[in-house]
Amino acid sequence: MYHLTLKGSVSTSDIYIGAGVFGETAKHVAEKFHPSRIHIVTDSHVAPLYLEQLSAQFPIAVTSTVIPAGEEHKNLDTIAGIYADLCAAGITRKDLIIALGGGVIGDMAGFAAATFLRGVSVCQIPTTLLAQVDSSVGGKTGVDLPQGKNLVGAFYQPELVLIDTDLLSTLPDSTFCDGMAEVIKYGCIQNASILDMVAESNFKENITDIVYECVSIKRDVVQQDEHDTGLRMILNFGHTIGHACEKLGNYVDLTHGQAVAIGMAAAAKLNAALGAPDLSERLIEILKAHHLPTELPYAREEIYGALLSDKKKMANTMNFILVDRFGEAKIHPFAIEELHQHILAL
Ligand code: MG
Repeated sequence: MYHLTLKGSVSTSDIYIGAGVFGETAKHVAEKFHPSRIHIVTDSHVAPLYLEQLSAQFPIAVTSTVIPAGEEHKNLDTIAGIYADLCAAGITRKDLIIALGGGVIGDMAGFAAATFLRGVSVCQIPTTLLAQVDSSVGGKTGVDLPQGKNLVGAFYQPELVLIDTDLLSTLPDSTFCDGMAEVIKYGCIQNASILDMVAESNFKENITDIVYECVSIKRDVVQQDEHDTGLRMILNFGHTIGHACEKLGNYVDLTHGQAVAIGMAAAAKLNAALGAPDLSERLIEILKAHHLPTELPYAREEIYGALLSDKKKMANTMNFILVDRFGEAKIHPFAIEELHQHILAL
């Protein structure tokens, strides 16, 4: 089992990674908290698999909110429902909220915890690969508005993150592959050995080590830039064009991982056009091996239009993450019109 700590401005996250960590949740909770009650937030996919197993570990009162699975429920109405359940359960600031699920559950339970009574401690137990390597660590919480994704939220560190790679065995293959896009991203931006690890045909046997390497990078980056004002941007490799494609597909045609895969392949080609070494061939080979798409599915002009409305745009330049060598990312500011021309040429 691995143990990492992330020192945030307000609290320290203890992050445990390993096969079987889930079964020791009560022990880890008792080491860190002294709650009278625990409230678990989960969804309709995860509840039948793991909710009872989790609740039964605690000798104290445990209540839960089970949300219908799906991003379409990541909204303020669902948050209001969580608040109502927290009130009914009599949760106080000394108690604990546990997020048991993928990214949507983590974002919403984290946001409810950040805001209910101005802050109740939260423990993240991510059940998807994407949530394990990305969203459960770093303290970004929030919900979507009808006007756009993640427009309301808070930075609020989970004090405990329990990442059990055994939980990945119940994931549908497509959901697992979705998370692999973020795994490959970490290899591109910071640690090329991750790419070697995932290139092995039996890589799943080493999934705990792979998840650990990814989470270590996320921990390091977040610790240096908790509130996303600089370095944390490198975690967005592949996400600028990725978000544009996700938006053009109304968040239905492409999963997040698929969109990021397309975005990384495009960013590699774009960087080669700027004169950097062409990493696209190897990157595309790895992405394809993990059943991820690599071709832009929309017209270049449409992609540029969607990208312009992305919230990361600043004035007349846009920061874009590029990788010159595997394991090394840089932030490259593009003049908007220059970027336009490069995207048309992809
Ligand atoms: Mg992402």
